[in-house]
Amino acid sequence: MNPLLLSGGLPLFDQIQPDHVGPAIAQLLGDADNALETVAAADFPSDWKAIAKVLDVATEHVGSAWGAVNHLNSVADTPDLRAAYNASLPKVTEFWTRLGADERLYAKYKAIDVASLNAEQRQAHKNALRDFVLGGAELAGADRDRFAAIQERLAELSQKFSENALDATDKFSEYVSSDDLAGVPQDVLQNTREAAEAAGRDGHKLSLKLPCYLPVMQFADNAQLRSTMYRAYATRASEQAPEAMRQYDNTALMHEILALRQEEARLLGFASYGELSLKSKMATSPQAVIDFLRDLARRAKPFGAQDLADLRQFAASELGIQDPQPWDWTYIGEKLKQSRFAFSEQEVKQYFTLPKVLEGLFKIVETLFDVVIRPDTVPVWNPGVHFYRIERNAPAAKPSGDVGSAGTSLVGQFYLDTTAREGKRGGAWMDDVRGRWLRPDNGELQTPVAHLVCNFAEGVMRDGVRQSALLTHDDVTTLFHEFGHGLHHLLTRVDERQVSGISGVEWDAVELPSQFMENFCWEWSVLRHMTAHVDSGEPLPRALFDKMLAARNYQSGMQTLRQIEFSLFDMLMHTDHNPTDDILALHDQVRQEVAVMTPPPWSRTPNTFSHVFAGGYAAGYYSYKWAEVLSADAYAAFEETADESGLPDIQTGRKYLNTILAAGGSRPAMESFKAFRGREPQLDALLRHQGMADAASPAGKE
Ligand code: ZN
Repeated sequence: MNPLLLSGGLPLFDQIQPDHVGPAIAQLLGDADNALETVAAADFPSDWKAIAKVLDVATEHVGSAWGAVNHLNSVADTPDLRAAYNASLPKVTEFWTRLGADERLYAKYKAIDVASLNAEQRQAHKNALRDFVLGGAELAGADRDRFAAIQERLAELSQKFSENALDATDKFSEYVSSDDLAGVPQDVLQNTREAAEAAGRDGHKLSLKLPCYLPVMQFADNAQLRSTMYRAYATRASEQAPEAMRQYDNTALMHEILALRQEEARLLGFASYGELSLKSKMATSPQAVIDFLRDLARRAKPFGAQDLADLRQFAASELGIQDPQPWDWTYIGEKLKQSRFAFSEQEVKQYFTLPKVLEGLFKIVETLFDVVIRPDTVPVWNPGVHFYRIERNAPAAKPSGDVGSAGTSLVGQFYLDTTAREGKRGGAWMDDVRGRWLRPDNGELQTPVAHLVCNFAEGVMRDGVRQSALLTHDDVTTLFHEFGHGLHHLLTRVDERQVSGISGVEWDAVELPSQFMENFCWEWSVLRHMTAHVDSGEPLPRALFDKMLAARNYQSGMQTLRQIEFSLFDMLMHTDHNPTDDILALHDQVRQEVAVMTPPPWSRTPNTFSHVFAGGYAAGYYSYKWAEVLSADAYAAFEETADESGLPDIQTGRKYLNTILAAGGSRPAMESFKAFRGREPQLDALLRHQGMADAASPAGKE
């Protein structure tokens, strides 16, 4: 029996073995191919439900089985599993790409009578047609071939871009003595010493990887050393790098990538790649994004200028640095931060035990969103993983569209894997195990299930007993963030799989529910109930919280401007910019417009801008700021309605649940936002949360 072939239940994570992967995926892909041929046949009806019953049921099975393999590959990696994963990956990718551009299927979808669809199905249908167009399904002949060739070449180019960025970072080393590293923390020194030892050298080996580069720039008293490191870092993957490293120059790749993207956009009938990118996003046009960024820049600039003036003054009066150079700013910033906001992260951690934090998190969710969270049991991949079920608080009147849920109070379930361990990928994420779906094959309602994954340090052993894990405040924020994604996926009331939960939600709106939840971690009335000192049981002292709060917005003006600089550069590069023109000239122009600091003329930061040249953020980097505006403004509704002790209002919670979380991708994010807020998003709340309130005034955002 191959556990990956079972359908209907949750993945048997304790039974899936590497040698199940190849045969199961091959069989499921074969089934899906047969399903595609069935529905694409001339005599098959152009009917939403008929197609779903055959094709969606088959593709969902591929998706869930592959999802389980992918998940295990991320959280319980072994050489055998990795090999099995990599062997099947190209087949899975090939299938989805082919499905997405199948002309026969596209014709079938186009022929569906929209009047026969309900609202959710109409939205899913609209998205499907859009994705076919963006996948090149409308192209014919030479254009179709050219489109496919561009896709292939772009994949190669982004892969090469990342390899160059990685190699340019990894191949650099600098050997220094411990005297050169005066000021650098002990744990960093230990690592650099070990690195030198491993290379059979004396002293310390420095690298450009962040865990080494950053502390050197923050703490090394030796300005000459910081200058060397800064120059190496800022010229990576460029023609400004030292001779031996110029083989990693990304400049030519960047020009080719931009040119191909522009050509791709034109083939599909768009004026620019920016327009193509926004076709599936919440922002309506490149100009709307550019205006949004310029507006935010204008408001943030006085605060950024003030941050810089503070640094200058502190550098002159306290550090004796009269004319700070580019490699001095991080160092000055760290010293100023210590002098103003010193508190110990170590001390804060003692108040955040994982069970207490989870208890507090569950309590807010239960109160605001009218549900109960209970422990549940299923097969898992590691004994440290927990599983929970979310139930509806009371079997209230069924909301419309809630067909099929009669007789059950189960809303959804989630796995929680919080601990870092070997074989587990770093970082934190939410992933869907399955989406809510009124199944067309058996008429049953499939409830949503999610993975919540973090990488917190394990609790220490004391007298042979594992103690509760202690979380930093950053960890707590991360947990809330991922839980926000999870709630978006789990509390949906949509019955169409393609638009239920996080499915079908615009890319630039996806972070709304996650960043929204982070706000509670800065709310004293909420936070204090999640704290208990690991030894004394005492709650977090208010004075300590005030120090954390004061440090929260340190240099937020400059940080905001930096994000805007990346975002504006990205959007302009993919719209007005001619791909054959100099990219650096555009970057300079953007910097002059929004930045408060001028980098040296040899700086080449665009050459390692992997988000945009090698990742999925092309003409989409603004999404970070965009979603932050949405989440801050949504959270402001809770600030406006909180009771006198600061506790969030239950009715506002219900409204947020009904308008945003429950709606998922079933309607445009702007409609959901307006249904919740009664108006379009405004910048004010974000500026206020980040300590830039004075410059704020009401203004709409398109
Ligand atoms: Zn997120």
